[in-house]
Amino acid sequence: MSKIVGIDLGTTNSLVATVDSGIPYVIADASGRRLTPSVVHLGAAGQPVVGFEANRARALHPRETVYSVKRFMGRRGADIPREDMLVTYPVQGTGAGPVTIPVRGREWTPEEVSAEILRKLKTDAETALGVEVTRAVITVPAYFNDAQRHATIRAGELAGLKVERIINEPTAAALAYGLNKLQDQSKIAVFDLGGGTFDLTLLELNQGVFQVLSTHGNTRLGGDDLDTRLTEFLAVKIHEAGGPDLRRFGAAFRGGEAEAAPTPEDLQRIARVREAAEKSKISLSLETLTDVTLPFLTPQFSFRYQLSRSELEALTRDILLRTRTHCLQALADAKVDASQLDQVVLVGGQTRMPLVRALVTEWFGCREFEESRGDVRLGEDYHRPSGPLLNTGVNPDEAVALGAAIQAEILSGGMTNLLLLDVTPLSLGIETFGGLMNVIIPRNSTIPVKAGEVFTTAVDRQRSMLIHVLQGERERARDNWSLGRFDLDFEEAPKGVPRVGVQFEIDANGILHVLARDLKTGHQRIVDMKSAVDVSDADVQKMIEESVEHAFDDLKARQWIEAKVRAGETLAATRKGLAEHGAELDEAYRRRVETAMQAVEAALETEESRTRVGDAARLKGANQGLDEATLQLAELMMDRAMEEMLRKQGMIQ
Ligand code: ADP
Ligand code: MG
Repeated sequence: MSKIVGIDLGTTNSLVATVDSGIPYVIADASGRRLTPSVVHLGAAGQPVVGFEANRARALHPRETVYSVKRFMGRRGADIPREDMLVTYPVQGTGAGPVTIPVRGREWTPEEVSAEILRKLKTDAETALGVEVTRAVITVPAYFNDAQRHATIRAGELAGLKVERIINEPTAAALAYGLNKLQDQSKIAVFDLGGGTFDLTLLELNQGVFQVLSTHGNTRLGGDDLDTRLTEFLAVKIHEAGGPDLRRFGAAFRGGEAEAAPTPEDLQRIARVREAAEKSKISLSLETLTDVTLPFLTPQFSFRYQLSRSELEALTRDILLRTRTHCLQALADAKVDASQLDQVVLVGGQTRMPLVRALVTEWFGCREFEESRGDVRLGEDYHRPSGPLLNTGVNPDEAVALGAAIQAEILSGGMTNLLLLDVTPLSLGIETFGGLMNVIIPRNSTIPVKAGEVFTTAVDRQRSMLIHVLQGERERARDNWSLGRFDLDFEEAPKGVPRVGVQFEIDANGILHVLARDLKTGHQRIVDMKSAVDVSDADVQKMIEESVEHAFDDLKARQWIEAKVRAGETLAATRKGLAEHGAELDEAYRRRVETAMQAVEAALETEESRTRVGDAARLKGANQGLDEATLQLAELMMDRAMEEMLRKQGMIQ
């Protein structure tokens, strides 16, 4: 069996790793570098240039050098926030169309650009291992949706790699830390802050098996944001020192287009300042002072500034604080208190920053912090049992790749009795009567997972059922994200008669397969949500915050819609009954039924508009009143139906 390598295809850096004789290690390229910047320079002639050389080219050829392409993977133009479009290279894409990067007369897809990075890693691995490499495990952020995971698989295929498994980055990191050797029931938090993404994942070890308890994060929060902040700060300092005014390009610091159109020289300068900003940020993880030097920013001006660690910390603290709500949310989701954690592990290059370590230590009440800075917390925490251990044993920028390599080794049969379980970040379900979300797989379910339910029709003579697949935490369908929709045809039948089984299956790669089956005929359709990239890619965080914020309104909406659907059914049945058997009823009873119907109709009118719900309690009361009033009518209808049936069978005349 051929070798499977593990690949961390990062927003900022990518790595390839393997396991040899049970020891995982990152494979270096011919120049001995273990990290490949995820940058591709699409030059004038010949092959695209990938990695360090491409990163160099960034300053000189900003429009032809693609970085952070991971942000565009598997996304439609309409889903991309404006900030993400602000890069120094051109990005096209509107509406439902895919994103493309037009460079030198060719429209590159994000997958094609990523494939260039993967091809380099593949070649580096082949050179180092001396064998052909055709199979890989690739990691993705926990919040990547179906379309993004599929785009990653496609990128692998384009690079000539069979993608054996897609795994979540924090899950891979936990494997690299060897946390499977901890005691049973150990709980671990993985704090991953890279260049472009942040995730916090809580894991529990059960009989040698990792279980993800919860996962939370933001796919647009990372070291890049610190670089931007520092670049903006330096632009001000450059201006103060009599240098070129780069401040007016505002948005250009976030990557690209600005109010004032920058000249190619301006773009080069901005890229140089940004590069210097990142370099000094990295230096300040070890030093407390660093020199920012930018010789000949213009022919007349060279820049020099002494930056201190505390200045950097003051500038970027608020960005780092944004990771905290995600930590709290993940803990709340898993119903775990930070003090119950055994370990917190740090992953991602940005976690080398001392302030990040200090904040994590403080938030999680980690042991290391209390020992070294006990004076700060003495008093309130004096009696608190010691918190989780802050584990920084594995190189934070290599952990994910090493974990991928270990997973690859497990798949090759090289390592056994270690299994990874992941969870779904958001609930999945379908739209039902009245536009409600019916959850089939709840959020934070362990995958792979399979779940189903049986549905019926609400209208007579329906010939098909629309299966509208949704993702999200809101009660109403329209407030959730639409993953796709398809119809299942069946024979025409009265309402409530057709029975359609809907089954959701999330495979080991986190990809959703939806099956809908007419239980009468067995006719079925299975739709892989692959082609349905119709997912709004708004933040998962936003979705959850909104679901909390609107919990009360959502509940009221659900109660109203349910009561409304019920009212519609009862009213229709009552009208039918009165039309057919009205003559058989005595006048007083008839009036009683009609009054009950009027009460329901009046309650229905409390709905102000399609979006504003009505008085659910009143409608429920009226529904109940109508149910009671029609008891006698319902019995009569049953009797008549029974007679009809017996007559048909020739048993009575
Ligand atoms: P990604 O997973 O997004 O590809 P990485 O884990 O490689 O990212 O982290 C890259 C980020 O880490 C960059 O923003 C980089 O500037 C930052 N970084 C790398 N080394 C250090 C360091 N020593 N101190 C602070 N930040 C660092
Ligand atoms: Mg990473």
